[in-house]
Amino acid sequence: MTSPAIASSPARPAQTETLSPLLGASQQQLTDWVQQQGQPAYRGKQLHQWLYSKGARSLSDITVFPKQWRAQVAEVPVGRSRLHHRAVAPDSTVKFLLRLTDGQIIETVGIPSEKRLTVCVSSQVGCPMACDFCATGKGGFLRNLAAHEIIDQVLTVQEDFQQRVSNIVFMGMGEPLLNIKAVVAAVRSFNRDIGISQRAITISTVGIPGQIQRLAEHRLQTTLAVSLHAADQALREQLIPSAERYPLEQLLADCRDYVQITGRRVTFEYILLAGLNDSEAQAAALAQQLRGFQSHVNLIPYNPIAEVAYQRPSRKRVRAFEHWLQQAGTAVSVRYSRGLEEAAACGQLRASQAQPQAMRKVESVSAKR
Ligand code: SF4
Repeated sequence: MTSPAIASSPARPAQTETLSPLLGASQQQLTDWVQQQGQPAYRGKQLHQWLYSKGARSLSDITVFPKQWRAQVAEVPVGRSRLHHRAVAPDSTVKFLLRLTDGQIIETVGIPSEKRLTVCVSSQVGCPMACDFCATGKGGFLRNLAAHEIIDQVLTVQEDFQQRVSNIVFMGMGEPLLNIKAVVAAVRSFNRDIGISQRAITISTVGIPGQIQRLAEHRLQTTLAVSLHAADQALREQLIPSAERYPLEQLLADCRDYVQITGRRVTFEYILLAGLNDSEAQAAALAQQLRGFQSHVNLIPYNPIAEVAYQRPSRKRVRAFEHWLQQAGTAVSVRYSRGLEEAAACGQLRASQAQPQAMRKVESVSAKR
C-alpha cells in the first residue's frame, strides 16, 4: 500500500466512494483531504490524532467534528479490522485473531515485558513459503495484506494494552519480502504517525532472491532478521523448500551487501530441531559460515505442532549449542517462543481455530469492535 488514495474533488459535500482506507495517510495527506471536503486545515491534525492515538474506528467516532459533517463522512472507510478472538497466555502474552473486511482472519501477538511492548505482526493471509516446520506454511496462502491492515494490528495491541508499542517484529503470518511495498509503507507510517523508531522494528525473511537488495534500497533503519535454520544447503532446502532457488552462498552475500548499504546489522534466526540441526558439527559449520560477518544469531528452540514430527531439543542441548557457537566467536542468544501454552507461536492460534478440538485453554471473547 501505499498511501490511501485521497479523492481530489474540490470543496463540496463528502464524497465517499473514491476513498481507500484513511489509515496509513500522513497528517499532510489528511489535511489535504479535509480541505477537499470543505473543512478547515486544522481538522486534518484532529483526524490524524483520532486515527492514530484515540482509536477512532469510524469518522462518526470523532466527536470534535461538526455533527453534520460527521454524518456525511460516517461511511468513509477508516481501515480498522474487527476483533474475532483474543487469548491470554499465563506469561501475559496476548494473541489476537483479527477479521479483515473481506472476512479473512489474521493473527497478531502482543508481547509485554518489563520495559517493552512488542507486537508480532502478520504481513500476509497465510504464507506461500511452505516451510516444513511451520503451522502457517501448512495452511497455504490467500493474499497479501494492505499497509492499513498491518498498521491496524499495531493499533489494536496498543489500544488493548493501553500502553505505547515500543517494538515491532514482522514474524507473524507471511513472508514480508513478498509484500515489500505494503511492509515499507507500514514501517514508514509506524515511524511517522505512531512515533515508533525504525530501529525498534525487525523485518524477518526466509530469503527471496533479489528482495533483500530491494529492501536495502529503501534505506530503512530497521533490523533485518534472516531465517537460516541450517548451515548447509541440503538441510536448508528440506526445511525451507523455497531455498532451492536461493543458494546459501548467494543469500549470505546479499546479507553482506545489505549491511554495507544500510549500515545495519543482520540477525540470523536458527530454529533448533532435535536431532536434525543441533549437533556440535552443525554449530561449527554455522559459525564458519558467519565468520567475519557483523551479525547475531538467535537460537529458537522449536515449538512443536501437531502436523509435523519435529521435536524441541532439551534445554541442556540448547545451552550446549549456544556454548559451541560462543566458543567459535559467534554472537548468540536464545529466544524461547512466548505464549507456547496457548498455541500462539507463528500461525498456531489461527491454525487451531480452524480445528476447535485443539483449543482447550484459550479464552474467547466475542467480537464487538
Ligand atoms: S516460517 Fe515464515 S516464511 Fe516459512 S511458512 Fe511460516 S510464515 Fe511462511
